[in-house]
Amino acid sequence: MRWSAFPRANVARRIHLSFVIAAALPLFLLAASAYHLVSSRLEEVALKDARGLAKSLGMDTFDRLQFLNDQLKLIIDRGASMDAVRSGLEGFDLSERVRGFFQVGPDRSITGTLSLTGDERGTLHASLALVQHDKPALIAVGSPPRQRLLMLVPDGPGYLGAELSLQHLWDTAGVGARPERICVLDNATRPVYCNHSYYAAWLAASSDLLAERRDARAVQFGTNQRALTAAWSLFLKPHYQFERWTVVVGVPEEQAFVAITAFGRVFAGIALIAVLIAFLLGRRMIRRNLEPLDSLNAATRHLAAGDFAYRVRLRTGDEFEQLGQAFDGMADRIGSQFRELDAMARLDRSLQSAQSIEDALAAAAAGLTELVGAGRCALGCHERWQQPGSVWRVAFAGDRAERCDTFPLPTSLPDLVERAAPPRPAGTHWQAVVDSDPVAAVIVIDGDQHPAVARVADVLGIALGKLASEHNLSYQASHDWLSQLPTRARLLEEFVAWTAPAGTRVVGMLLVGIDRFKQINDSVGHAMADRLLRAVADRLKALLPEDAMLGRFSGDQFMLMLRDDAQDMAVTRLDQLAERVARELDRPFSLGPRDLRLSASMGGALHPRDGDTFDDMLQCLDAAHYEAKRTRRGGMLMFSPGMRDRLVGRMDVEQALKAAVANNEMVLHYQPVVDTASGRVRSAEALMRWQRPGIGLVMPGGFIEVAEDSGLIAELGRWAVAEACRQMVEWQAAGIRLETLNVNVSSKQLADDAFLPAVQQALADSGLEPSVLTLEVTESALIDNFDDGVERLKRLRALGVPIMIDDFGTGYASLKYLKLLPVDGLKIDRMFVKDLPGSARDEAIVTSVVSLSRASGFKLVAEGIETRAQADVLHKHGVPYLQGFLFAKGLPADQFVDFVRLGEVPARQVESL
Ligand code: C2E
Ligand code: MG
Ligand code: MG
Repeated sequence: MRWSAFPRANVARRIHLSFVIAAALPLFLLAASAYHLVSSRLEEVALKDARGLAKSLGMDTFDRLQFLNDQLKLIIDRGASMDAVRSGLEGFDLSERVRGFFQVGPDRSITGTLSLTGDERGTLHASLALVQHDKPALIAVGSPPRQRLLMLVPDGPGYLGAELSLQHLWDTAGVGARPERICVLDNATRPVYCNHSYYAAWLAASSDLLAERRDARAVQFGTNQRALTAAWSLFLKPHYQFERWTVVVGVPEEQAFVAITAFGRVFAGIALIAVLIAFLLGRRMIRRNLEPLDSLNAATRHLAAGDFAYRVRLRTGDEFEQLGQAFDGMADRIGSQFRELDAMARLDRSLQSAQSIEDALAAAAAGLTELVGAGRCALGCHERWQQPGSVWRVAFAGDRAERCDTFPLPTSLPDLVERAAPPRPAGTHWQAVVDSDPVAAVIVIDGDQHPAVARVADVLGIALGKLASEHNLSYQASHDWLSQLPTRARLLEEFVAWTAPAGTRVVGMLLVGIDRFKQINDSVGHAMADRLLRAVADRLKALLPEDAMLGRFSGDQFMLMLRDDAQDMAVTRLDQLAERVARELDRPFSLGPRDLRLSASMGGALHPRDGDTFDDMLQCLDAAHYEAKRTRRGGMLMFSPGMRDRLVGRMDVEQALKAAVANNEMVLHYQPVVDTASGRVRSAEALMRWQRPGIGLVMPGGFIEVAEDSGLIAELGRWAVAEACRQMVEWQAAGIRLETLNVNVSSKQLADDAFLPAVQQALADSGLEPSVLTLEVTESALIDNFDDGVERLKRLRALGVPIMIDDFGTGYASLKYLKLLPVDGLKIDRMFVKDLPGSARDEAIVTSVVSLSRASGFKLVAEGIETRAQADVLHKHGVPYLQGFLFAKGLPADQFVDFVRLGEVPARQVESL
């Protein structure tokens, strides 16, 4: 401990204070009691001295009186003359002792040199009257302090008198001391003599003492004045005619206590030195004993601040040294524990943030190196999700983690140990970290077990478990549950990785859409359809080249991505792949009782030729797939910019079409159907037109397909039925009588549950006879889901609405289906009419359809009649109704009315050929 620091050390200060108090208090008490004892003893002695002084002063007085008495008697005896005596002759030298002589005659007359004041003389005479002649008398005349003392010694019948010198009488020179205050008091305690004139206060304060006459004590008087006062009474009565004198001696306390004061000073000095010695000694001892404590304190602070290298290093050779050694040992242990904890915490952090098994193993290897020592441990880890299995190895910690060559799956942890750390030194231990799906790991340690290994094993186990579950989660998130193929998100990730700057030069992509999968789904059921999709996925997977990726893109769409260096090569490979896909799908899938063959329309695109981003590429693929679906079902089309334009145009149409019904942009035109024989209008077909703002009249070919694909056809169809019904009733009211008004119904409309109620509603709202409305359905509308279609048609027909097959002969309907269909009429397609007359085959077909219709009771219409010759041929073969441009195109309602009334096409016909 630094000396300067000493007073700041609280413990030191306290101990020091206690030490000083412990030393000083007894010393003080001892000094105080000694001082008290000595001073009271000295006071006693001083009092005794004062008493002795008073007594010896009294005795001296008596001796002097006696001497004077003897001298006066001698003078008398010698009969010496007064003058001689006064002159100091005859051997009497009383000049100092006696102030004058006088003689008292028998008659009490006074002669001599004594001069008295009247009062003194009076007093003397009064006293003389009382004086007896047998012994000397002492008479005091005057009043103190100017009292005069007269001694009378019998001389014959008279007296020889002398006035005594009071000064001489009470001269203190003889007593060897110089008391400050001396008073001689008479009987009535009046001062007869005082060596000073201002003793009244002192004497007044000493009145108690004077009453006792022979005593001594300290008397307090005035303000703070004390005197050791002693009184001694000199009884003169036995020798003189005089009662007594009391000698009062007062020694001022400070004078009396000179010795006490000196003693006090010396004593205080000694006490002070003793305390100082105690202080210094205490300080030295405390310093000596607290210095190690200070070192320990400093070491504790260092320890608390995390400085574990600081050492106390005490060399006191006592318990402090032992304490210091224990402390150093403890700091050592805490330091290593802290380092271990720190290393563990760092390991924990890096394991927490590890994004991969490799990161986790590298962190664990670093941790083991730090905690156990370099080259003593090995780590092994097996990811079971890696197929085929491979083992991570960190051959004796300190090395980077590396993936070993693919091994056959280790069957047990010991096997993994062998894999993880070959060659395993003899005497190694291994410790399982985690052994659960999908990851197993071990730590191998060379030699004895180390406690840190278990801790590292724990945290590594947690980290690997976390990584495994994260992997599971991300796998589930990035893989389709049904096909176990990567999802669109995963495909996107891979695409981004492939197309990174340092990645592949060309990415070829193929969108494979299973044709009519919805219908298949509806017909075989979901469970079977799921099995079918899994089977498709498996076949596609088997086709996959090594550098390609296959994912499930949406319900019935798969995506293939492959990498190549050259564009041409990529296109060729996509073509080949598409062909193989088509072949594979065409191979029967045996699902339950029946086999199924599939086809897929495929769109192909190339990155970066067709697009930059994944979204760009998807648009290209969509466009190409859409185009393929439309124009090349079951085949593949590579994307071209025109496709995108068409797709964009289609999207424009879709957007604009959405609000078309609400904006009253849809209109129906009516194409007459005429009686072949008479040429009179018998019925009409409602044909939808779109009065598109800014563009003009759009024919069905420009929007029906978009409406069907987008689902908007349902709304358009409902509107068309309602509008046709309304129009028909209006016409009926206007006197225009038609047998039927035909409205077209597409396959999507038929599948719409809201369609039948809408028809019902339209009929109800308009009040039209159901038999007047005829619904035209194409064969292809039925072929996709025949059973359901038939069912729906039956329900429509049950309303009383006739059903007619449109475009008859172009679809897939077989005669078997015709037998099952709830049908009231057929409309022979234009393709069988257009080559008439001239085509014998077409004529034969027409003839057979005519006889089929007659036999079945179907209403038969031939459409697309453009020439009179066609009309004639059909008339010849007995087709009862004709429809075609020959008569009229689709006409706006008012023009149709004119046409019906006039029997000819009005001049302001709007549709062009
Ligand atoms: P569709 O039902 O077969 O209608 C007959 C189509 O043939 C009409 O074409 C008509 O204008 C055209 N046509 C009639 N006579 C001749 C002719 O002599 N020569 C030629 N070259 N063509 C003739 P449009 O109006 O363009 O309709 C095309 C198709 O759009 C219709 O074929 C029908 O399937 C569909 N469609 C029209 N309106 C609707 C509707 O309201 N709903 C539904 N779902 N489809 C409709
Ligand atoms: Mg039609
Ligand atoms: Mg048709």
